Amino acid sequence: MATIAFPPTDFLISVATLAQLPSDQGREIAFAGRSNAGKSTALNAITDNKKLARTSKTPGRTQLINFFKIDDQHRLVDLPGYGYAKVPTEIKARWEKTLIQYLSKRESLCGLILIMDIRHPFKDTDQLMLSWAADSKLPIHILLTKADKLSRHEANKTLHSIQHSLKQYPQTSVQLFSATHKLGLAPARQQLLNWLQLA
Ligand code: GDP
Repeated sequence: MATIAFPPTDFLISVATLAQLPSDQGREIAFAGRSNAGKSTALNAITDNKKLARTSKTPGRTQLINFFKIDDQHRLVDLPGYGYAKVPTEIKARWEKTLIQYLSKRESLCGLILIMDIRHPFKDTDQLMLSWAADSKLPIHILLTKADKLSRHEANKTLHSIQHSLKQYPQTSVQLFSATHKLGLAPARQQLLNWLQLA
């Protein structure tokens, strides 16, 4: 597929609670995934901005929601990585509540990019994210990251089996992705631009 450019995207604001969210207007897309799945790397690759999301932070340390601005009406949202064992249960529970509220109430949210390491797909919270998003009628696009870690044959096999298991969820799509090999950049960007109505 030919290269597709992504519009310049800059840091907007970090928030710790839903009360601090930027005004709920225009369109925004959230990125979610387990810590270390490659979410920051994918955000940086897609926006072609190496400094946008910080990579390799201490996993689970920050529970902030980071907003990035394309323009006044279009945003990308980096949700905190989950699945980090050392996060205390009460913080996890509080965070889940915040997340469910965000996914169900945010009017401008028009899609969810779910980041999964192709070698460890569909962990518990990934399944929860899928069902929460489905409950909120939110379309989901899954990036199977680090596809370079598998042979092409193995990667395609995993892709097909995941496509099969996603049949129960309407409005859900999945693709292979590798930031290091620049694999899947064009379809990922196209999906975002379609949802943002910038295509
Ligand atoms: P995050 O916690 O989900 O934001 O994960 P990061 O983006 O910080 O990535 C976690 C680790 O995986 C880092 O060491 C990255 O360099 C590595 N990584 C991310 N994407 C890829 C990829 O496409 N291929 C490979 N081989 N490594 C990757």
